[in-house]
Amino acid sequence: MTEPVAANDFIRDIIRRDNEQGTYGGRVQTRFPPEPNGYLHIGHAKAITVDFGTAEEFGGICNLRLDDTNPDTEETEFVDSILADITWLGFHPARLLHASDYFEQLYQWAEYLVGQGLAYVDDQDTETISAQRGGFGRPGVDSPFRDRGAEENLDLLRRMKAGEFAEGSRVLRAKIDMNHENMALRDPVMYRIRHSHHFRTGGDWCIYPTYDWAHGQSDAIEGVTHSICTLEFDTHRPLYDWYLSHLPLPGDQPKQIEFARLEFTHTITSKRRLAKLVADGTVDGWDDPRMPTLRGLRRRGYPAKAIRAFCAEIGTTRTNSRQNIEALESFVRRELNATAQRRMAVLHPLRLVLDNWPTDASGEPVVEHFDVANNPENAEDGTRQVAFSGELWIEADDFAEVPPPKFFRLSVGREVRLRGAYLVTATSVDKDADGTVVAVHATYDPATRGGDAPDGRKVKSTMHWVSAPHAVDITAALYERLFTAAVPGDATGEALDDLNPNSREIVPAKAEAALAGAAPGEVVQFERLGYFAHDPDQALLFHRTVGLRDEWAAIQRRQG
Ligand code: ATP
Ligand code: MG
Repeated sequence: MTEPVAANDFIRDIIRRDNEQGTYGGRVQTRFPPEPNGYLHIGHAKAITVDFGTAEEFGGICNLRLDDTNPDTEETEFVDSILADITWLGFHPARLLHASDYFEQLYQWAEYLVGQGLAYVDDQDTETISAQRGGFGRPGVDSPFRDRGAEENLDLLRRMKAGEFAEGSRVLRAKIDMNHENMALRDPVMYRIRHSHHFRTGGDWCIYPTYDWAHGQSDAIEGVTHSICTLEFDTHRPLYDWYLSHLPLPGDQPKQIEFARLEFTHTITSKRRLAKLVADGTVDGWDDPRMPTLRGLRRRGYPAKAIRAFCAEIGTTRTNSRQNIEALESFVRRELNATAQRRMAVLHPLRLVLDNWPTDASGEPVVEHFDVANNPENAEDGTRQVAFSGELWIEADDFAEVPPPKFFRLSVGREVRLRGAYLVTATSVDKDADGTVVAVHATYDPATRGGDAPDGRKVKSTMHWVSAPHAVDITAALYERLFTAAVPGDATGEALDDLNPNSREIVPAKAEAALAGAAPGEVVQFERLGYFAHDPDQALLFHRTVGLRDEWAAIQRRQG
């Protein structure tokens, strides 16, 4: 699978135009600005590929900037995980920066705006301020503190900064227009008082900038040219521009460009709800393989390359939509088909006894070894030796005592192929006291070694198997959708109402000996069953990444 080049899109068009017109002297600089209050999810992967990928394509740079303006929710742990996840996805920030690096400069600029009569201290609480903001078609109400003189404002701002006032007692607001049709411009809050410990600046500050006051200015300080974000910031753009155009910037004025968020069916990207799943114990943690976090997908076995390829394929638009999760899985499957080693494992083992299997001179059952290709898609992956004997494990549902119509696998009197080994014919069954089949007896045809009959006779089914005396015990984790509804919360408004109570099944399974040597995190194909990722921490635990059937192709066929 070659690395795809993203299709042209409106963002690239904007950059190309800027380059032609020399807007930024041909420079392209972007940033990826997560708030370090949680783990990155699949939606962030889209933003990362756009921010880093676009800069890379135009020979520019992309910084990682942690938007750490909210001391109550942010932690170093999240900074570390964010950087690790970006690196895993295959991108490398030119620099690791924090909005808190600019707290001093932001404050100086706030004093500057106060001096210009463009910002004021409001002594009202946030409820009053938001009630006065008005609404669409409803004018706002001026704060009684709106026309304070610059000197009084400066004095109050300095005292806010010095810690003289209680949380919530005052804010600094930009003085723009309380009747502006865009609510974002109705005297937005620039600073609020928080007597909290900040994970980087400690107790240095007790006033913290809002996102809007911090973001564009941080972009300008760093020399960002194109500040790419998601559509919900669309209405904030005039404010972004207003701040920048009223400040003595050191360089060019960056521009904000918005694109549609990436969302998928059957999952969610709300950090708050994902946090609830972790807190409730619904999942095992942020890196549970059912989680849409990058950590979860990685543990699940999703290759970073497949995620990048998917993000490139869907392109970048300004239309919100939800992608089919099956489409992403199809990219995962395509990548794994090329890279994953094939192995045999039996998830629901049923004993198969070959009654005519020979014994050696000392009376021990003979053991044979077959040379099996590791990946038929890739000859360079070579072959491995797989042991075969007269006692085997087969998949319980590959046998039917009374075969239903169109069941072509094993039943008494029927011959099938054991993949790469022999043709075998079932002869009888052993049952327990409840009448459950506990073993199937069969005979093998020694003339069919390798799996083909010299007389050319055909069998309708080829089954995987594991030699019982050579098997290793593994644990397989089988996953279903975390949310049953395609659009979680569609019916009730609450996504968590659509949680699938049966999203995971843990089964003890039998596997060929080679799996004992699987590397932590390695993804293999269990023949006929799907792709499985070896857990990075727990040996011999395998997570089903995806099944083998391409459901996306079926969906596309149905959609014509
Ligand atoms: P929350 O509001 O839940 O904290 P957020 O969406 O604000 O999350 P951030 O971590 O602040 O997340 O976002 C970092 C960057 O990733 C932002 O530029 C944001 O626009 C982008 N981003 C977040 N979610 C998605 C998504 N689903 N699709 C595309 N980009 C996203
Ligand atoms: Mg956010």
